[in-house]
Amino acid sequence: MSYAITPPRLPSLPIVGSEQRFPVRRIFCIGRNYAEHAREMGATVDKDTPLFFCKPADAVVTDGADVPYPQATHDLHHEIEMVVALGAGGRDIPVDQAASLIWGYGVGLDLTRRDLQAVAKAKAHPWDVAKAFDHSAPVSALRPAADASLDADTTLTLSINGELRQQGRLGDMVHGVAEIIAILSTLFELKAGDLIFTGTPAGVSALHRGDRFHAELAGVATLDGRVA
Ligand code: MN
Repeated sequence: MSYAITPPRLPSLPIVGSEQRFPVRRIFCIGRNYAEHAREMGATVDKDTPLFFCKPADAVVTDGADVPYPQATHDLHHEIEMVVALGAGGRDIPVDQAASLIWGYGVGLDLTRRDLQAVAKAKAHPWDVAKAFDHSAPVSALRPAADASLDADTTLTLSINGELRQQGRLGDMVHGVAEIIAILSTLFELKAGDLIFTGTPAGVSALHRGDRFHAELAGVATLDGRVA
């Protein structure tokens, strides 16, 4: 078998303490998963109907590469999020078995063209153009779950040019990680290689050309980069 065109390169993430890489199959994201962030967006948390969207796998920006300022926006926003990487998948996974699918953890930015999102919301259009654009998912190196200690008090912090912009604790998520995996698996068959962006705490704001970001999931992962 040969391909008619050169096949696209498989996106992948570095792994802390390893030469191996983690291949990315899909990127799932949950929205409005911290009440304070939902409030700052003028929205409310609807616990019974979680909001999911996807980014293409090749939207990942890895290894500290620059993030090009995207086209078609004047209001690029940062959203720091814990990223969960799956090492196994399935459908209709019970909450109490969901953690066994987790391969590792990282930290990422769910970059958002906020102006296009506002238009989409106003017109009841889907969010793809606001969320799923090229280079919209910078992600850190992943830390294997066995080496990651996380609890409700683990913090996410994002600084831009050395100034603290976002801070949150994992315990403030509306839907915890196991719950997110369980619910997603009722909607999609999950597979090894999937990434899940788990929502952002309050404090989202604009990024500009030249800004340097430093994102941390305390004790687990750090992401440094620059908007070019
Ligand atoms: Mn988000």
